[in-house]
Amino acid sequence: MASIKLSGVHKHYRNNVHALKGVDLDIPPGQFLVILGPSGAGKSTLIRLLNGLETPSEGQVVIDGTELTKRNLRSVRAKVGMVFQQFNLVDRLNVMTNVLSGRLGKRNWFTSSLFLFPRSDLELAHKSLARVGLVEKAWMRADQLSGGQQQRVGIARALAQEPALILADEPVASLDPITSTEIMGLLRDICDEQGISVVANLHQLDYARDYAHRIIGLNNGHIVFDGSPEQLDSDA
Ligand code: ADP
Ligand code: ADP
Repeated sequence: MASIKLSGVHKHYRNNVHALKGVDLDIPPGQFLVILGPSGAGKSTLIRLLNGLETPSEGQVVIDGTELTKRNLRSVRAKVGMVFQQFNLVDRLNVMTNVLSGRLGKRNWFTSSLFLFPRSDLELAHKSLARVGLVEKAWMRADQLSGGQQQRVGIARALAQEPALILADEPVASLDPITSTEIMGLLRDICDEQGISVVANLHQLDYARDYAHRIIGLNNGHIVFDGSPEQLDSDA
């Protein structure tokens, strides 16, 4: 369970782009938060700040009471599972190995051969695959699966990290509408059942309305809306 707090966060890139302009945001544990906004609004920047891929130019990012700094990046990042638009699986490896790679943040790369993972990691990977309904595909190559199945593997890999928080950067942008609703439903269920916070970037209003507990509208580096899906409809 993670609580996240951003206070007065600005992000300037080296090319003088001011991508975030004073963002204050409190995310309680177990919330499914969707960030909506046009291209260039700063959504990816916000996600990258939450997993420490970027550091704020000004202001603070605090995860579970610990300010994210260069020094504690590794330990904080170990608690953050990532889900990507293009799934980011290793195509030529099997599904099980891809899921196990979620444990690598906590293990040494040199022990990463499948046979050297501790039994507890294998059990966790198996449980994660079961949660996304793909146990029977465990020994297939990742690139033999459909897009929706690959995204389930991506989610299982995140779960194998035992994350406090899952960050999903455009998780359904490469999927057809039916598969997209399945993936959004799965993320929402995981959030509700396990109390894992989910922060997802989306550009589809419909999925935000149907699956989020809370929606943040981002435009030009500012939060321009913060409320429930119902409030979004009544404001519109
Ligand atoms: P979104 O995800 O909402 O499309 P981004 O966070 O990717 O928005 O981008 C916000 C702004 O910051 C854009 O103007 C973009 O061009 C710029 N930007 C994003 N990443 C970088 C970077 N690594 N270096 C410089 N500018 C960047
Ligand atoms: P998104 O669709 O998620 O906003 P983009 O396609 O805009 O992503 O950007 C892809 C990558 O390019 C990101 O890693 C981002 O950091 C980088 N990037 C985006 N805009 C710029 C920019 N103006 N200068 C340098 N890098 C950028």
